[in-house]
Amino acid sequence: MESPLTPELVRELQEIAQLSQEEQKKVLPEFLRKLTPEQIEYIKKQQGEQSTGCLFCSMVEGKIPVKKIYEDYELLAFLDIHPANPGHVLVIPKQHVQFSTQLEDSRIFDVANNIAKVIYFKLVKDTNIFVANGGNAGQRLGHLVVHVIPREKDDNLNLVWQGKEINEEELDKLASILRIEPKVRKEIKVEDAEENIYDDYRIP
Ligand SMILES: [Zn+2]
Repeated sequence: MESPLTPELVRELQEIAQLSQEEQKKVLPEFLRKLTPEQIEYIKKQQGEQSTGCLFCSMVEGKIPVKKIYEDYELLAFLDIHPANPGHVLVIPKQHVQFSTQLEDSRIFDVANNIAKVIYFKLVKDTNIFVANGGNAGQRLGHLVVHVIPREKDDNLNLVWQGKEINEEELDKLASILRIEPKVRKEIKVEDAEENIYDDYRIP
């Protein structure tokens, strides 16, 4: 089926896809108003195909068995069966999202960090924690994954790069573009406190 979307609409849709779910809710209604019913139908069909054909979603649904390391209401962690090194763990959100920027909080990184601690204490290995956001960054599937990779000396896994030359002016410009303000920590209401306490991350 040929895409009824213009290149401008595709670009806009890609930009929206990288926003958090909260931000998407704000901008989507306005975007959808610009579309014809045929274009809306096409997008819906494509999204349906993306998540139903997704390998990680099938693992979340239990259709493909995994060697589970951790699971809670929104995250699943399991061993990679084609590991970069033995003990390579994949942490995924149960919901089908592509980019880490779409997550509403950073719990996935807390879990990855705790798995790195377990690897350090139980396997006595260093680790890399790795995320590919988008195809240019090396993402192969359309479902976000945080890799926790055990490392040892001379393990033949090359994640080291050659630093590029950059001048002071470019550094200043980038620093001003990328600078972000610290967030004010959200007050946790007493009635929500139970749900917000995750003390099950301790090393067993
Ligand atoms: Zn998926």
